[in-house]
Amino acid sequence: MPRVVIVGAGFGGIAVAHALRSAPVETVLVDRHNFHTFNPFLYQVATALLEPAEVAQPTRSLLRKIPNADFRMARVTHLATGERTVHTDHGAIAYDYLVLAAGSVNNYFGHPRIAECALGLNDLGEALLLRNRILAACEKAVWTDDPEERRRLLTFVVVGGGPTGVEFAGSLAELVYGVLERDFRDLDLDQARLVLVEGSDLPLPPFAPKLQEAAARGLRRRGVEIVAGHVSEVADGTVRLGDGRELEAGTVVWAAGVRAEPLVEELGLELGSQRRVPVTPTLQLPDHPEVLAVGDLAEIQSNGRPLPMLAQVAIQSGAHAGRTIEALLAGRQPKPFRYRNLGTMATIGRYDAVAQLGALRLRGLIGWLAWVFVHILRTVGIRARLSVMLNWVTAYVLLDRPVRLLVDLGRAEAEETVTPPTA
Ligand SMILES: Cc1cc2nc3c(=O)[nH]c(=O)nc-3n(C[C@H](O)[C@H](O)[C@H](O)COP(=O)(O)OP(=O)(O)OC[C@H]3O[C@@H](n4cnc5c(N)ncnc54)[C@H](O)[C@@H]3O)c2cc1C
Repeated sequence: MPRVVIVGAGFGGIAVAHALRSAPVETVLVDRHNFHTFNPFLYQVATALLEPAEVAQPTRSLLRKIPNADFRMARVTHLATGERTVHTDHGAIAYDYLVLAAGSVNNYFGHPRIAECALGLNDLGEALLLRNRILAACEKAVWTDDPEERRRLLTFVVVGGGPTGVEFAGSLAELVYGVLERDFRDLDLDQARLVLVEGSDLPLPPFAPKLQEAAARGLRRRGVEIVAGHVSEVADGTVRLGDGRELEAGTVVWAAGVRAEPLVEELGLELGSQRRVPVTPTLQLPDHPEVLAVGDLAEIQSNGRPLPMLAQVAIQSGAHAGRTIEALLAGRQPKPFRYRNLGTMATIGRYDAVAQLGALRLRGLIGWLAWVFVHILRTVGIRARLSVMLNWVTAYVLLDRPVRLLVDLGRAEAEETVTPPTA
């Protein structure tokens, strides 16, 4: 039976495996983690609202209902397209068809110092490191007698006013001013400074101007300062802006963008925007029709423009890649991919979100209710769904966050890996 190897068990990879569940193929899904992550909730892990097991499911449990799919935990290190083989840190796997769905990494725009000094929010490991950093900063601030050092420890700078930066900054403000303030009676958390640095005047550039203004108002109301500017350097607790301004900060969070997983550089192709692999309308590589690419690492054109790096693009392109492979196996001409835009949303905090669904623009409580509805539906598994709802009631109604645990990540902290979630 032909073998389809899928690199990455994220939104795109899982969708490919689902689409091929009745096809006459053997599917092998390879991922460096043994779990699938629901990235839209990562900021809630970083701000002590949700547990890792509520945002990630063991991949093997997701594949139980797909009889022709198998899983291998490994990091793919090399793509030998000439030999139709992927090389991993555990061994090589030969394929008849290959689907690249390895997602994206933080984009530091060629500044290695930023990568060293700032924390990202692109996977579960980074979210846990960030949660630790926030809680540790408050614990350290209790110990210092130096007011300057205390102010620095309690300054959090978030770089990037896209959905990730905005959702994280709003949730951090509610954690610091609403929850930690009650825990740390020996610390004046009104001294804490939360800054969101955004290149344009308003956050959430892809949203309609009225929604951008609503998001900015919501953030300011929660105590987030919005600074317009471009970050040129991050080093030793200082964030430097292009115009020379400087911000002293104990924690710098990098949410200024992502680029395709560097594995695609292996292909030796001319890469597109965010270093993504350009694909044909049927999601194949131009010179290798047996290799397909989906999700964040693929540059998929729609109406002459590349599609954004969003979960829906990954899910829909993953399902379509499965259909393309089925057509190739049956000797039919594969159909071109058409993206159905289901809209975009971002939460600012408790009872406050913006949503752009076709011509519909929602904000405030209505936007937030729409956000809650959509995201509860998308949460995988009944146990995780109930647990997420319980934590949201605790956070939004009782104004508490029960998972504010400063866990010793040990070696994982240094290696930036993460303990797998419980099933
Ligand atoms: C914090 C955050 C919030 C987001 N919020 C939203 C949102 O609200 N709405 C929305 O639509 N989108 C959101 N996104 C974007 C969305 O998560 C991505 O567009 C989507 O996950 C892309 O799916 P994918 O399958 O391409 O990659 P991913 O879902 O990232 O999956 C890639 C998989 O590949 C694996 N992998 C990577 N490299 C290797 C390798 N070398 N070897 C083996 N395995 C590898 C990874 O472990 C991962 O499991 C958010 C992203 C982040 C980071």
